[in-house]
Amino acid sequence: MQPSKIWLSSPHMGGNEQQYVNEAFDTNWVAPLGPNVDGFEKDLANYIKEDVHVAALSTGTAALHLALVMLGCKFGDEVICQSFTFCGSANPVTYVGATPIFVDSEPDTWNMSPQLMEAAIIDGISKGKKPKAIIPVHLYGMPAKMDEIMTIARKYEIPVLEDAAEALGSHINGKMCGSFGEIAALSFNGNKIITTSGGGALVSNEHYAKEARFLSTQARDAAPHYQHSQIGYNYRMSNICAGIGRGQMEVLNERVAQRRKNYAWYVNLLSGIAGVSLVNEPEGYFSNRWLTTILVNPLETGGISREDLRLAFEQDNIESRPLWKPMHLQPVFADAPFYGDGTSERLFEQGLCLPSGSNLNDEDRQRIAQKIKEVFKN
Ligand SMILES: *Cc1c(COP(=O)(O)O)cnc(C)c1O
Repeated sequence: MQPSKIWLSSPHMGGNEQQYVNEAFDTNWVAPLGPNVDGFEKDLANYIKEDVHVAALSTGTAALHLALVMLGCKFGDEVICQSFTFCGSANPVTYVGATPIFVDSEPDTWNMSPQLMEAAIIDGISKGKKPKAIIPVHLYGMPAKMDEIMTIARKYEIPVLEDAAEALGSHINGKMCGSFGEIAALSFNGNKIITTSGGGALVSNEHYAKEARFLSTQARDAAPHYQHSQIGYNYRMSNICAGIGRGQMEVLNERVAQRRKNYAWYVNLLSGIAGVSLVNEPEGYFSNRWLTTILVNPLETGGISREDLRLAFEQDNIESRPLWKPMHLQPVFADAPFYGDGTSERLFEQGLCLPSGSNLNDEDRQRIAQKIKEVFKN
């Protein structure tokens, strides 16, 4: 018999989600508006602080798309985007007809290199095409170098759109991911640190949050009939999903603590294995440790690669996954410009995401440890 599946990151309900969903049924707020949507937006804004305002949307990708629309990104424009990320960061750039300019990562946080980002900006300006926006990502929950990125972005007066889809609960010296850029996007997809089954949010000032609510409900003007002066989208979050979100907000800090505990457990387990390394938090950085990620360097492990470990896990029904394949290596973005130094390519070749769910139990951990010991027995 096959052992039960250990997932990379699976939904983990807190208990009160169903109560909020039941309230929606009882009051017949089964629609993309209602008290759960309002409540979830308030919970998120209070959590991120800094006076942010939130619009709850259908997905994180939708949040990024609306953000680009509101920042005025159009056909023919160029938008700087971190290459080392999930396609959800980059696809919305193409939805507005703009071209993504991909920028490589730096080795400390694995996120956008401020130096290469500035090189891309200077190059764009010299060609008469100043980038319209910059999309850094807090990958796997680790905050990007936001001080440096914001300083450069301000110098050239380019708005920053923070992809915080993986980083709810992460911060730098107490300033939450999602509160650095002009606009930020969150995701509540099923594999994220908290989930609404599927969902996202746009985080910004009051003006942009209001505009996002308007655009995400088909941009309906104030009139008794249906009147439209601009193109809208059907991107609002449903009151049912928002009910799940309200329950999840009650346990978010607990989920962050559990994920960080996973990371600490892996650090202990892997310490002393030559050629296996993890990413440390720079001074003042706090990662929600959404996923624990490692690098396996075959030159130092005696030839063992991340793929050997992944396949060994797979045999025991344990899910692990290579790191995101950089966007500049994706066939669909083959023609997009790229500013890089090989960092994200190396990360992709050597990197693996380990099972990181906040619901891992002792038995799961035992099976994971067993496999790791087997693979690295020498
Ligand atoms: C999950 C994710 C997204 C997209 O969010 P969805 O809610 O799945 O649309 C965007 N960027 C990153 C980095 C993500 O991990």
